[in-house]
Amino acid sequence: MLQVRRYYTLSEVQEDLQAGVITLPNLVEHYLQRIDEYAELNAFIEVFAGDVREKAIEIQQKIRNGTAGRLAGMVIGLKDIIAYKDHKVSVCSRILENYCSIYSSTVVERILAEDAIIIGRLNCDEFAMGGSNENSCYGPVKNFADYTKVAGGSSGGSAVAVQAGLCLAALGTDTGGSVRQPAAFCGVVGVKPTYGRVSRHGIIAYASSFDQVGPITNSVEDAALLLEIIAGPDEYDSTAAQQLVPSYSALLHTSGSKKIAYLTEVLNADGLDPEVQELTEHAIQKLREEGHTVEPVSFPYLEYVVPTYYILTMAEASSNLARYDGVHYGYRSPGAHGLESTYKQSRSEGFGPEVKRRIMLGTFVLSAGYYDAYYGKAQKVRQLIRRKTEEILAEYDFILMPTTPTPAFGIGEKTDDPVVMYLADIFTVQASLAGIPAISIPAGNNSKGLPLGLQLLGKRFGEGELLAFSKYMLDTVKSDHYIQQ
Ligand code: GLN
Repeated sequence: MLQVRRYYTLSEVQEDLQAGVITLPNLVEHYLQRIDEYAELNAFIEVFAGDVREKAIEIQQKIRNGTAGRLAGMVIGLKDIIAYKDHKVSVCSRILENYCSIYSSTVVERILAEDAIIIGRLNCDEFAMGGSNENSCYGPVKNFADYTKVAGGSSGGSAVAVQAGLCLAALGTDTGGSVRQPAAFCGVVGVKPTYGRVSRHGIIAYASSFDQVGPITNSVEDAALLLEIIAGPDEYDSTAAQQLVPSYSALLHTSGSKKIAYLTEVLNADGLDPEVQELTEHAIQKLREEGHTVEPVSFPYLEYVVPTYYILTMAEASSNLARYDGVHYGYRSPGAHGLESTYKQSRSEGFGPEVKRRIMLGTFVLSAGYYDAYYGKAQKVRQLIRRKTEEILAEYDFILMPTTPTPAFGIGEKTDDPVVMYLADIFTVQASLAGIPAISIPAGNNSKGLPLGLQLLGKRFGEGELLAFSKYMLDTVKSDHYIQQ
């Protein structure tokens, strides 16, 4: 068998496929072997070995005939929340264990139509609820940079699979940071599109007014290409925007000087790791040296973003997860007899502790006596956050901040206190509440070799500009001790 080197971008793969340096069957064997070799990371929960070998032969033939799609050569993993016809999807929950999807999500249809090869299902937090991938019924994912650290979450398996080269790219979902935060912890690129940019058809719902699918890749180029393929109107999702999708991957050049805001409250936030702060200040300074205007702006709602996000998402989750009742889907308790005990026992045994906590809190904030005090109020605060964020973005091209207040923390370090875990989402939930696009780019390693991410927030449907500027930043503004892979 031909020796296959580690690839970081689709264009490198496609070049070597064209030149005959490798074949697609070689390439998939390489990934299958690597997944096996690094099984301890716990990134994949299922590998579609038979499927991918067949597909590789088929697409190799298309490459020879010159009829291959734009993603030919891209071997991709799916977060276990994205439906793929005739394949299992469980959101890493016992309640959906062994559930087999009867249709494919729109994003899967679109990447398959461009000849991507889907290699398997990736570990995540149960129902995408979590920020460390420790809430999965399959156990935690380990960070490839340090096996004692979390991968981030909820798309932890997706980020680690790309970080460790177990596949070239992955699709995750981001409700309050689940693509961006693990991407930052793992030193890869993660994009959360504008709400409505990508169809949610076939994505298992967590909080429907927030959920978006986003690419996780090694390069901005691959993220741009994947996004332009999965984005766009969809007759199966009425919240998918009608707006046409620009060719993001062809527009990856930025010119002229930009106006960038950073938030004073972010740089003064409690618990901001000194090296993360230093990295952000370094980026600000570097951007100024490059001729951009970078100014501090006050965002007085920073302390409200986490509570607002959690009240709203738990409320939506409690409603979305009502369908898992032991009757319609998945797990039914063998001890159940009668309707009520079927509901109670199936749900008690099928859901893990974090999901139960959120269903209970969500039900509470929606209950008659408390609706106005919590849910109603959180909706109003969401409007304030959205308006203030849009006001800033009316004056500036982007908002710059770290993706996370700290690098990846230790496995088990935050599991005892859910509030401490929730607070770690402080920098990612603003874009989610506002519905705007945001990206995390790898910006350097800290002194212990752990990856750090910088986040850029852009204007609604401004993915094109956001991606172009991110590529520029990755090329020119990265930290001095950043190790280019
Ligand atoms: N950590 C956040 C939460 O637990 C984000 C999760 C997500 O984006 N799916 O809700």
